[in-house]
Amino acid sequence: PFDFQGKHVTVAGLGVSGVPAAKVLHGLGARVTVVNDGDDERARAQAAELEALGVTVRLGDGDTLPDGTELIVTAPGWKPTKPLFTAAGEAGVPVWGDVELAWRLRGRDGRKAAPWLAVTGTNGKTTTVQILASILKAAGLRTAAVGNIGVSLLDAVTGETEYDVLAVELSSYQLHWAPSLRAHSATVLNLAPDHLDWHGSMEAYAADKGRVYEGNQVACVYNVADKATEDLVREADVEEGCRAIGFTLGTPAPGQLGVVEGILVDRAFVEDRQKNAQELAEVSDVNPPAPHNIANALAAAALARAFGVPAAAVRDGLRAFTPDAHRIAHVADVEGVAYVDDSKATNTHATEASLAAYESIVWIAGGLAKGATFDELVTGAAKRLRGAVLIGADRALIREALARHAPEVPVVDLDRTDTGAMLQAVREAQRLARPGDTVLLAPACASMDMFTNYNKRGDAFAEAVRELGA
Ligand code: ADP
Repeated sequence: PFDFQGKHVTVAGLGVSGVPAAKVLHGLGARVTVVNDGDDERARAQAAELEALGVTVRLGDGDTLPDGTELIVTAPGWKPTKPLFTAAGEAGVPVWGDVELAWRLRGRDGRKAAPWLAVTGTNGKTTTVQILASILKAAGLRTAAVGNIGVSLLDAVTGETEYDVLAVELSSYQLHWAPSLRAHSATVLNLAPDHLDWHGSMEAYAADKGRVYEGNQVACVYNVADKATEDLVREADVEEGCRAIGFTLGTPAPGQLGVVEGILVDRAFVEDRQKNAQELAEVSDVNPPAPHNIANALAAAALARAFGVPAAAVRDGLRAFTPDAHRIAHVADVEGVAYVDDSKATNTHATEASLAAYESIVWIAGGLAKGATFDELVTGAAKRLRGAVLIGADRALIREALARHAPEVPVVDLDRTDTGAMLQAVREAQRLARPGDTVLLAPACASMDMFTNYNKRGDAFAEAVRELGA
């Protein structure tokens, strides 16, 4: 294993990844300096905590490479174009992200190095690793969903708990900084433009996502409906014998997982040589059984099957899974109308998926658009829209797209951004809806113009729906 003893390691960025990284590195005998752009109260508190251990911290100076640095461990969000990394490049100093550090720390001190089943993609990562962990648990394996939520990667590899296998969520930033990561099996769920300002271009973004397939041992799982993900598999350098496995919402070809008459079917990992397909579960075992989520379930099933999990555990794991709040959460039925909270749909790609899940929709949308355009989204959903209620700072962008591509859809444009606006939005939606319709909060925008975060936005929606029912 890599020897950190006495090494000059610079940790770039305090915060959720930097503070634990600095502690672990310090514990391994490295001479740690943390550099941080900000110099606010929170940073000072974190700095004080680390300095008490003997770590050097430089606040308000994230761009100067400390003398003698032999390795940088960076927070994933730091842009590759930052002067710190230019200086590191010139000095020949390697840069690792938090994932690379965790990868290098696996299996130290006689611990078991659990293999990683890795999940990336523009949307659905968190849900898919949670489904995957649920399936692995149902198979009796010691596992955890690791990443953005739940257990952190560093804890998973250095903490007390031993695992047989990890379900790991990876962002494009993390993959960018993880050159030696080699997953057992991995998937890129989908690819849509996102974070392009950070990566520089769509090609660079895709290339960073594609890194998840590098060195895969058993399976590279791709989305048949998203050719870009298959292209990434083809470009990847994998271990001998590693297979490309597609998942599809349609009938699976040999070597794929898919859906046949309401049954999730595996034609890639079939135990019984007499058969050419293995039934895994029913579509209704997936929660919620919306198309994009069935895709997530198939991707998770493919990774679990690549790891040798039996079909029955896939079914049990799917049934045991409950999605996190604000992800296509059914709030209530009021007078024959379903109210669904997908506040987590903060970009157009996610919103496209949730709009595709219902037949006749009163759509509540708007917020901070983050530079997005809405023409494609509205064009694709126009036929299914009973009406739209628009809220938030950038609602005009959506209103104009509706006027261009769905002029017949009635639109209520709420010119208010106070927190009470959600109750009015839900009342307007109720007025537009007919029995059998779905009122869907899928904003396609960030929430920070009106709410602290998407959780609060979803809570406000649920609260408003309860007032309708009361
Ligand atoms: P991530 O971790 O990638 O942000 P989440 O699982 O938290 O993904 O879901 C984020 C949003 O994307 C939710 O609004 C959800 O409805 C939507 N979503 C989930 N899976 C998919 C998918 N496979 N394709 C498109 N959108 C999806």
